Amino acid sequence: MDFHLSPEHLALREEARRFADDVVAPGADARDRAHAFGEEVLQAAAAKGYLGLLVPKSYGGRDVGNFGQCLILEELARADMGSHVGISVHNSLVTGPIKQWGSEALKQRWLTPLASGTLIGAYALTEPHSGSDAAALSLTAVKDGAGYVLNGTKMWITTGKRADLAIVFARTNREAPKAKGISAFVVDLHARGVSAGKKENKLGIRSSETVQLFFEDVHIGADALLGELDKGFNYALLTLNGGRVGIATQAVGVAQACLDEVIAAFSQRTAEKGAAFGTQDQDFAIAEMATAIEASRLMVWRAALLRDAGVEHVREASMAKLLASKTANEVARRAVELVGPAAWSEGSRLERLVRDARITEIYEGTTEIQKLVIARTLKGS
Ligand SMILES: Cc1cc2nc3c(=O)[nH]c(=O)nc-3n(C[C@H](O)[C@H](O)[C@H](O)COP(=O)(O)OP(=O)(O)OC[C@H]3O[C@@H](n4cnc5c(N)ncnc54)[C@H](O)[C@@H]3O)c2cc1C
Repeated sequence: MDFHLSPEHLALREEARRFADDVVAPGADARDRAHAFGEEVLQAAAAKGYLGLLVPKSYGGRDVGNFGQCLILEELARADMGSHVGISVHNSLVTGPIKQWGSEALKQRWLTPLASGTLIGAYALTEPHSGSDAAALSLTAVKDGAGYVLNGTKMWITTGKRADLAIVFARTNREAPKAKGISAFVVDLHARGVSAGKKENKLGIRSSETVQLFFEDVHIGADALLGELDKGFNYALLTLNGGRVGIATQAVGVAQACLDEVIAAFSQRTAEKGAAFGTQDQDFAIAEMATAIEASRLMVWRAALLRDAGVEHVREASMAKLLASKTANEVARRAVELVGPAAWSEGSRLERLVRDARITEIYEGTTEIQKLVIARTLKGS
């Protein structure tokens, strides 16, 4: 076991850190205050190849694997979670499943434009009445000649309005047990009958665009089916294992950003006062924060490496998300206490970070759902 990053991985991380500092971080607070989607960040990320991180080079991607993606996405999240989440979804939840289960025709049609950022992807599983219990979804895909007709509503869809296509999960068999009658489709969001609701006004990741998507008599071809009919729920769960690693990475990034803020604030006060600033209690707090972040990072790395190796990693992905999201929220809370009132004012970076961190315990499986998954794998149920 080697805990050292290879020269290639060090270079990837360094490149992403520079990009995050120079391009992503500068407008993050302004985008947050204005609830403004970071189109320029998305375009710049596309130019770096960050929208094709898992896409094979033969389809125009960078193909850095899940571990390489982790290194890059942590840096983006450290700079701005609002920008990070859409990029994470596009890579892990859209290009990932198309690469894994898509027919050659689907790959040819979608992977190259997704990798270049010509097209942007979204992932549409959640509905107004099915979140944690995703198998209860009710959007229908009814056979119509050679294709299908979609009817229903999706909710909380990241980048749902900006995106050009979405992986949409739909009920294709009402007679089958609920998890066994669901299929996944790659749907062109510019098709007739698709519309988006207003952008949600959120507590955190405000620059990220989160919307409802409405499907009214949307006709799609049979070639839009991803993988096999009625196997969609399996694909959703397997895809979310990768998505959870992406969100755990996000949690590590935001936690690191909080710690960076505390250290910067203490260094500034030390410089102003001309003597070392901070009590032993405060030093102990910083040490504990740094240790918890490092432990989370190692768990995220392990889950990503297992995923790259094609080894079962359901428990490891859930454990990584559980620990990293808890750490992000603990570290954010402690950081505000340590920095004091300045961190509590609107416009302070920490004020944004503490709001942003909250979502890591909710999406791609809440904390309770991660615990259920971990317990089930331990009990073998
Ligand atoms: C900003 C944002 C972006 C999102 N982006 C996307 C996206 O791009 N695509 C997408 O498909 N979805 C997306 N989601 C949806 C997200 O994944 C769901 O919100 C999440 O899965 C929780 O579902 P829910 O909101 O219906 O809550 P519920 O499932 O109603 O859960 C409410 C509470 O009950 C608890 N709970 C539920 N079931 C159990 C149980 N069996 N045992 C114990 N406790 C339980 C939960 O942990 C939670 O605390 C997004 C959500 C947000 C807020």
